[in-house]
Amino acid sequence: MTAIHLENLVKRFGAFTALKTMDLEIRDGEFMALLGPSGCGKSTTMNMIAGMEQPSGGRITFDGRDMNGVAMGRRGVGFVFQNYAIFTHMNVYDNLAYGLKVRGTSASETDRRVKAMADFLQLTPMLDKPSAKLSVNILQRLAIGRSAIVEPAIFLLDEPLSNVDAAFRAVMRTELKHLQRQFRQTMVYVTHDQLEAMTMADRIAVMDHGVLQQVGTPLEVYNDPVNLFVADFIGSPGMNLLKGTLADSDRGLVIDLGALGVTAPLDPALSAVARTNGVREVVYGFRPERVVLATAGQGLAMPVTFIERIGARTVVHFGDGEQRVKAVFDNDIAVQTGETVHVAVEPRFARMFDAATGVAIREV
Ligand code: ATP
Repeated sequence: MTAIHLENLVKRFGAFTALKTMDLEIRDGEFMALLGPSGCGKSTTMNMIAGMEQPSGGRITFDGRDMNGVAMGRRGVGFVFQNYAIFTHMNVYDNLAYGLKVRGTSASETDRRVKAMADFLQLTPMLDKPSAKLSVNILQRLAIGRSAIVEPAIFLLDEPLSNVDAAFRAVMRTELKHLQRQFRQTMVYVTHDQLEAMTMADRIAVMDHGVLQQVGTPLEVYNDPVNLFVADFIGSPGMNLLKGTLADSDRGLVIDLGALGVTAPLDPALSAVARTNGVREVVYGFRPERVVLATAGQGLAMPVTFIERIGARTVVHFGDGEQRVKAVFDNDIAVQTGETVHVAVEPRFARMFDAATGVAIREV
C-alpha cells in the first residue's frame, strides 16, 4: 500500500547504460507489469526498487520518501525471483512461517496466517512435506506464499512463472491477481511475456533497450501503441504492419500499399494529422482480430498461404514477402489454402506510423 515514484532513474554498468532516464509513477495498490524483451532493463529497474542495486542517477521514492541509501531490509518489500528461494531443509509449514517468526509474530498468529496462506495457495495437503521433495510448480507457489505472508506493502516479482509449466502458469496468473486484490499490495511484476502482462496488470510499462516506451492499461497499449516496437511486441499474433505511401485520391488521403497494388482508406482525422506533419512514408497497422472478409473488389485481395486452427480461433496467414497479413477468425471460417480472398479493416481500427521514426501518427 505504497506509491512508488521513479524520477529520472538511470543505471549504468561501467560505460554501458542499462536504463536511460526512466520516469514512472506506480500507484498505491496498483499491479504494474514491467514488460519487454530480454536485456531491456526490467530486472535492473526492479533491483533498484528493491534496494539491491543503487541508481547511477535520479531517485526512487516510496510515498514521497527518498529511498536513496535505505537498505533492502528496511524498504518493506517482498521479492520473488524466477528461481524460487526457499529453505529446502524445512517443510512447507516452516517455510511459510519463517518470515513471521523472524518478525516475532506470536505462535498462534503465525499458525493462523500459515494455514490461511496454505489454504489460499492450495498448499494445505503438503504442509508437513519436506520442501526438497516438491515439484518446481509447487516450489514456486511456496516461494510466492513465503514472501506474501508477511504482507509487504510492495510486492516485487521477477519472472516468477517462467520455470513452471504452461498449464500451471495459467492457474498462477489468476491466483497472483487474486492475491494482489486480497492484500491490496502495490505489485511490480517483471515479465517478457506480453500475455502475462495483459492478463494480470492494471497498467503495463513497456520497455526496450533501457528506454521506457509506453505506460498504459492493457487495452491502451493494445489499441493505441505509441510506436512500432509496442505495436509488434503486444498481441499474439502481433499487429499487421504494412509499408505504404500516403497519396492523394478522389477519396482524400489514402495509403498506397505498393506491392499489394491497392490503397487503404484513412480516417479523416488521421489524414489531417498526417498532412500537418508532412509525412509520406508510413506503416499501416491493424490488429489481426479486426480483419473481416470483404466482397470481391473491396479491401485487399490476398492469397491464403497458411491456416492455423487453434481451438476456438483460426489464424489465417495471407500473402508472403514483406506485405504479409495475419487474421484471426472464429473456427468456422470457410477459407482454403491457395485461394485468394478479400480482406478489409474499418478505418477506425487502422493505425498509422511514421516509417522513418516508427512513431505513431495520432489524433491530438
Ligand atoms: P532478462 O529478462 O534477460 O534479465 P532484463 O530486461 O531484465 O532482461 P536486465 O537484467 O535488467 O534485463 O539487464 C539490462 C542490461 O544490463 C543487459 O544488457 C545486461 O547484460 C546488463 N546488466 C545487467 N546487470 C549487469 C551488471 N551487473 N553488470 C553489467 N551489465 C549488466
